[in-house]
Amino acid sequence: MSKVIVKIKGERCKGCELCITVCPKNVLGLDETEVNALGYHAATVINEEACIGCIGCGLMCPEGAISVYKEEE
Ligand code: SF4
Ligand code: SF4
Repeated sequence: MSKVIVKIKGERCKGCELCITVCPKNVLGLDETEVNALGYHAATVINEEACIGCIGCGLMCPEGAISVYKEEE
């Protein structure tokens, strides 16, 4: 079995929400509890189990802040 891992470099995120909009499974959301060094609420993974590994979020992010990869369990 393999599991999809979504990693977001929060320090690079500008909170544009494109990744959130493109995700068909509502895996991502903004972390409203923190502001990063750039002054934005960064995107974060809120529902990793639902991810289907389509990599749409990684392709969409203009800041190159998202990596999607599979990990063997
Ligand atoms: S890989 Fe696809 S399903 Fe997973 S978080 Fe990104 S857009 Fe959503
Ligand atoms: S697309 Fe990139 S910059 Fe925009 S909210 Fe998502 S992680 Fe942040």
